[in-house]
Amino acid sequence: MINITNGLVLYGPEMEPIRANILIEDDIIVEISPHASGGCKIDAKGCIVSPSLINSHVHLGDSVVKDIGDGKSIEDIVKPPHGLKHRLLSEADNGDVVASMRSSLLEMLESGTTTLVDFREGGLEGISLIEEAGKGLPIKKIVLGRHDSFLEPFSFPSFSNDSHDPNSDFEDEIRGATLKIIKSADGVGLSGFGEISDEVVQIITETCALKGKISAIHAAEYKEVQKNSLNVTGKTEVERALETGFDLLIHVTSPLNSDLDLLKDKGVSVVCCPRSNGALSVGIPPIKEMWDKGINLLLGTDNLMFNSPNMFREMEYALKVTRGYYKDYFPPVEILKMATVNAGKALHMNTGCIEEGKQADIMVAEQLSRDPVLSLINRTEPKNIITMITDGIQIKNRLL
Ligand SMILES: [Zn+2]
Repeated sequence: MINITNGLVLYGPEMEPIRANILIEDDIIVEISPHASGGCKIDAKGCIVSPSLINSHVHLGDSVVKDIGDGKSIEDIVKPPHGLKHRLLSEADNGDVVASMRSSLLEMLESGTTTLVDFREGGLEGISLIEEAGKGLPIKKIVLGRHDSFLEPFSFPSFSNDSHDPNSDFEDEIRGATLKIIKSADGVGLSGFGEISDEVVQIITETCALKGKISAIHAAEYKEVQKNSLNVTGKTEVERALETGFDLLIHVTSPLNSDLDLLKDKGVSVVCCPRSNGALSVGIPPIKEMWDKGINLLLGTDNLMFNSPNMFREMEYALKVTRGYYKDYFPPVEILKMATVNAGKALHMNTGCIEEGKQADIMVAEQLSRDPVLSLINRTEPKNIITMITDGIQIKNRLL
């Protein structure tokens, strides 16, 4: 048993600061009270005890191409299959890719993140690379893979062969490819509607749902993709994503029409990546409007290519750019919840929240100001994290 004593605990789904001890048995929080006793003590005097951070959207593979392509258009940099990133990744040595991903995973752990959701390129081989990169590291990886065939539905011989039923062959091919991916991953993460047909998307999301796996897609990242979607299909990307049954939408930086109401009605969560949107000059996510609507919001650092995976940096940018954009107050705790409580809920994990019965995924950080939430968002650096508990074990920062 572990007992985190004397800390200022950000308790429950509302992250209310209370003085209490936290008793952990195996990897479960069994008691939170000022009187909880016993166990191996970790003295958290002068510290904030918070859920560890969840980075809900990252492309870890880009670790090998950091800060390349600055100033080029978003299509030129990241659009598959010929964007700069994809060309460079296809030429990169697998050993270098694995080493750079491992270094990013360590950076995440040092900056308080113990869970990440990775958009994994490169099919089954890509999935095996992240497994190799994370070997032995106490970090939970939710891997959302994809298959190259998703991008080329019309290249299937069955489509041009009149002697077969094209639809059934085509469907079987896509379903088979999806099953192969989700057998070794937690779900599928798709680049966007611009590169894939709605028929293919429908088969993928249905297959994921059938197997209880996550389906996610970049949607409404910028105005042009939304306009293009409307011109071609008469629907926004958000409408198409909701109709095809995705669990998680990435970005929604440029919602149109009734996009936000539909998201709220369907109860689908959105992962905001404000630093990524800033880096690519595509806008500022409407965090306050989405929050006002009651949409469950998560936070991600997106491409390693142009962002560090440090969630403290993401939280600070998210808070301040939101206030600047709306010229209005936005509560800091709502940003911290995007990186903890809301993500745990959306990803159906028993973490992200410090409460009795939850899995202990906890970060103990020095309190650097009177306001514990702002202390984390505005001031905390990796050096201020004293320790983390995950999966029932204690990780000492800087000894990783
Ligand atoms: Zn992304």
